[in-house]
Amino acid sequence: MPTILLWPITIILSTAVQAAPQLDSATETTAFAGWLAGQDAVALTRYQRFIDARVPRPPSLLDLTINRHPVKPGCPRPMFAVPPRAQWPRLVPALRLVERLWREGVISDYHFTSLYHSAAENGCVGGASGSKHLQNAAVDFDVVETAVAARAAMALRLCRFWTRNGSALRFGFGAYGDGRFHADVEGYRAWGPDFKRATSPCLPVRLR
Ligand SMILES: [Zn+2]
Repeated sequence: MPTILLWPITIILSTAVQAAPQLDSATETTAFAGWLAGQDAVALTRYQRFIDARVPRPPSLLDLTINRHPVKPGCPRPMFAVPPRAQWPRLVPALRLVERLWREGVISDYHFTSLYHSAAENGCVGGASGSKHLQNAAVDFDVVETAVAARAAMALRLCRFWTRNGSALRFGFGAYGDGRFHADVEGYRAWGPDFKRATSPCLPVRLR
């Protein structure tokens, strides 16, 4: 199939998108402590236990609540939020999908960038109005791997997995470049760095 030959080209285009500088862990820890002080500790513990009981590799409470995406001016970074109780279960299938990708060697080690988005957070990060993060039903993650060739190979494996299993799993797959990805199980679809289908590395490329 000629389109397969074009995949590496798209992946190279995708990796050209720059990631925002990561916050250092001390900055995150300090911001998290400040935020925690004003929270309902019992509810937070319940949420963490709920997730811990349902996935083998659960996110920490920090990862469950933090949003590490770049933000618009005037918004704090990082931001934190807890989903309403009714939305706690929504995260589980998306986490299980990412764990499956890891277990099957499609991706190597990863860390979470953002899970739940409050409406305010979603506005601050320029998220889509229909973002699945608003329902706590999506996972954004970065792979730890930094070598460009290894990341490109990972993106290709993700595309193959998405092509084979995406319809059955209702796998929504965003590939943003620089080893940054989105996963949900809310519908079979794919998109690239500009959130559009045409820039997904998994779809036939229009030469632009
Ligand atoms: Zn996302």
